[in-house]
Amino acid sequence: MKAVIAEGSGPPEVLVLRDIPTPVPAGRQVLVRVRACGVCRRDVLTRQAAQRRGAASPLVLGHEIAGEVAALGPDARRFAVGDRVCSTQRERVCGCCTMCRTDRETLCADLRFLGFEAAGGYAEYALVNDDNLARVPASVDFPAAAIVACTVGTSYNAVCDTGRARPGETVLIVGMGGLGSHAVQIAHAMGTRVIAATRSPGKEGALRQAGADVVVVTADGRFAEGVRQATAGRGVDMAVDTVGGATFHEVRRSMAPGGRIVVVGEVTGTPVELDIAAIYRRGLEIRSAVSTSRRQLEMALRMVESGAVRPLVERIMPLEQAAEAHRLVEANAVTGRVVLVP
Ligand SMILES: [Zn+2]
Ligand SMILES: [Zn+2]
Repeated sequence: MKAVIAEGSGPPEVLVLRDIPTPVPAGRQVLVRVRACGVCRRDVLTRQAAQRRGAASPLVLGHEIAGEVAALGPDARRFAVGDRVCSTQRERVCGCCTMCRTDRETLCADLRFLGFEAAGGYAEYALVNDDNLARVPASVDFPAAAIVACTVGTSYNAVCDTGRARPGETVLIVGMGGLGSHAVQIAHAMGTRVIAATRSPGKEGALRQAGADVVVVTADGRFAEGVRQATAGRGVDMAVDTVGGATFHEVRRSMAPGGRIVVVGEVTGTPVELDIAAIYRRGLEIRSAVSTSRRQLEMALRMVESGAVRPLVERIMPLEQAAEAHRLVEANAVTGRVVLVP
């Protein structure tokens, strides 16, 4: 089969198209004929440091996979050849640890991440264990299905499960990359009043269309004052912060008493100095949403099927242009996702 291999670490040129043997499913593995694979910022980071311990060799990137079941391992259940499926980002989890048994399999110590510990979806075929796949509804196309697990599913986790958004609450979404723009849609669908904070004035129209009731645009990233104004000085009940250290204190200042801060990733590498009294006295909570469990992926797919959430696919490119796709993502030249199609 054709596959894009990361040959060493470094610039996008290390991604090269090669012929490698088509894998054969064993045990509970499902052979997925890849119809679309999302290109994630995480792929760029993996490519830049591909020699890290634990990486598969040869290294095929890509954890956002959608396609059809082509063959089944002898112990695979739940699926038949021809079924339309998408991946949870993982090739396998152990299935029996405390995390796996409590809908937190994204924290399983024995998980194998697609496109790192296991070969990923920048290829014509990929192997995924049956319990790490979800069925794709007929009305959802493959490029959209491919990005549901990473962008929609993680936003679903942040807004609904970790953030426990309730109708009537006011929710702040910070950072309008892949996660933030989908989190706005989900928070709107959950019946909350949505405030979106962004540095880009050009995004305001799209954010309002996605369901933001208020858009706070600040060139310097000091959005807390705008959030307080929009909430009559009270602050928000819950915030989803997709940026991290650089925005943490503005988020903290935006919270109502008892508010819940949900951290989803850290993209700036900015350490935060924290006065615990500023958290404790106001009864704030800080929680983390890590990736997407299979149940969360299935819920996210239902929201897409119902039309409540629209996955934002911006460019569809042929597999052999993986290096060019990485250049686009690295240069922040795209707002929605780039998807590779074998
Ligand atoms: Zn991803
Ligand atoms: Zn486990």
